[in-house]
Amino acid sequence: MIMHAKHSEKTQYFLDLEDRHGAHNYHPLPVVLEKGEGVHVWDVDGKRYFDFLSGYSAVNQGHCHPRIIQAMIAQAQKLTLTSRAFHNNQLGEYERYITGLFGYDKVLPMNSGVEAVETAVKLARRWGYEIKGIPQGQAKILVCENNFHGRTLNVISFSNDPSARINYGPFMPGYETVRYNDISSLAEALKDKNVAGFLIEPIQGEAGVVVPDEGYLSKAAAMCKEANVLFIADEIQTGLGRTGKMLACEHEAVRPDMIILGKALSGGTMPVSAVLADDEIMMTIKPGEHGSTYGGNPLACAVAVESLKVLQEEGMCENAAVQGDYFRSCLLNLSSPHIKIVRGKGLFTAVVVNTDSGNKDAAYTLCMEMMGNGLLAKPTHGDKIRFAPPLVITKDQIDECVAIIAKSLNAL
Ligand SMILES: *Cc1c(COP(=O)(O)O)cnc(C)c1O
Repeated sequence: MIMHAKHSEKTQYFLDLEDRHGAHNYHPLPVVLEKGEGVHVWDVDGKRYFDFLSGYSAVNQGHCHPRIIQAMIAQAQKLTLTSRAFHNNQLGEYERYITGLFGYDKVLPMNSGVEAVETAVKLARRWGYEIKGIPQGQAKILVCENNFHGRTLNVISFSNDPSARINYGPFMPGYETVRYNDISSLAEALKDKNVAGFLIEPIQGEAGVVVPDEGYLSKAAAMCKEANVLFIADEIQTGLGRTGKMLACEHEAVRPDMIILGKALSGGTMPVSAVLADDEIMMTIKPGEHGSTYGGNPLACAVAVESLKVLQEEGMCENAAVQGDYFRSCLLNLSSPHIKIVRGKGLFTAVVVNTDSGNKDAAYTLCMEMMGNGLLAKPTHGDKIRFAPPLVITKDQIDECVAIIAKSLNAL
């Protein structure tokens, strides 16, 4: 068991409130935050931390980015929600902007990430029946082992993570799992003529920033094209600058048939997600056949446009590429016996902590040490720690953070 650090009275008050009145569906680090700006967050006692989670990459643009907050306030004072029963003067502008930016005919706006995943799967099935000609009820979607695409019953139906599935059955049929980063596994599954789509994270985030071999994505996309199967990229976590490009698929010049975006699409201010696709796919859904009360609301649209502009106009993709490479080289230079693997792309990095000594909680212990030293990160799947700071981080700040990580490793 981990020794519990002493919390201030104020911190303990908020921990107790959540413990007593909130569902226990998360296991957060015992830190209570009340303010954020750029790469920093502050707790209720005024202690400052570097945020190396960035809300699972929702806060790529940095906390409370002034331009995004300004756009949000301005729109909030005018009009926030119309529902799609009526038009609003923000939706069309946003749709033109995002489709132009990514080069697709159409966008379908949703809110949380998992809703956009659901939307993409619905579209793939529709396309499978109406365009590809798959017999009714037979459409199949290929997914990858160790995927993470969200938490709805349908989406956990194709998860192989026991903690996401236990006692939630029965599950939705129509999915088949292939091994990630394994061309032959995909080739085998693509022999089935009833496959409509292949859903993939270009880099697996929750699995611990698992980067596939160079060439895998482009080969997989080519094989899907050959088999008349939609290549569907879940870029909710890898997209919007995180890996050093606007989309992680750009690293291999892959143009997915569908792109799923979320998280940083609103710079961490509200749930905004989207599916991008061309007409052949998107126009298979007719009025009344899919929707969301909040999807495409004017507040979300105004915030999303500004969030996308900020990423580009402030060179955040470029900075992620440069600082990410520098950060990983610094981690490797530490040559710490406690770090087994350093991997990632852009500012999407993970370390695998050495548990050979038998300390299964080493990653959690390290996160607690780093928290004490002013850096917040969270273990994923036991022995991995994801390091994903906002994309505005500077080289000097990276140096400061590497010193914190080094000091924390020495305390292990
Ligand atoms: C976070 C995430 C989701 C789910 O997004 P929510 O907004 O939490 O529903 C789906 N796919 C990937 C790759 C993610 O990282």
